[in-house]
Amino acid sequence: MHNGAEYVGDDFYCDVALAHPDELDIVHEDDRVLAFHHTKPKWELHLVVIPKRHIASLTRASALDEDDVAAVLRVAQTLARGVEEERGAQPVMSNLGNYQDSQHLRVHIHSGPRLSSPSEPASTDDAVAE
Ligand SMILES: [Zn+2]
Repeated sequence: MHNGAEYVGDDFYCDVALAHPDELDIVHEDDRVLAFHHTKPKWELHLVVIPKRHIASLTRASALDEDDVAAVLRVAQTLARGVEEERGAQPVMSNLGNYQDSQHLRVHIHSGPRLSSPSEPASTDDAVAE
């Protein structure tokens, strides 16, 4: 299982997730977007929505990335709407700059209690994710 535990690069999504989609728990897939249950969930429910094309981040996306960014946001909206209806509340967020472990745009949707993982110190990637 390529769960990223041993991965030390800076683009888990291109290098591991998109390279091994059969090992993901996918909730949505189309030509531009892949959404799946986070491989290392930090919350009871933790979905991640990514563009299939490499885009470094929301702030580093250019006009050329517009269609992919719009597609990611549309999928995030649909998934978040479902989670909101089912569970009442959740944040939708995307880390930037030093909060971004992997340099690949993604939108997190999560809900429910935070999962504790004592063996693994919280990464910078979820520093603002609550
Ligand atoms: Zn990438």
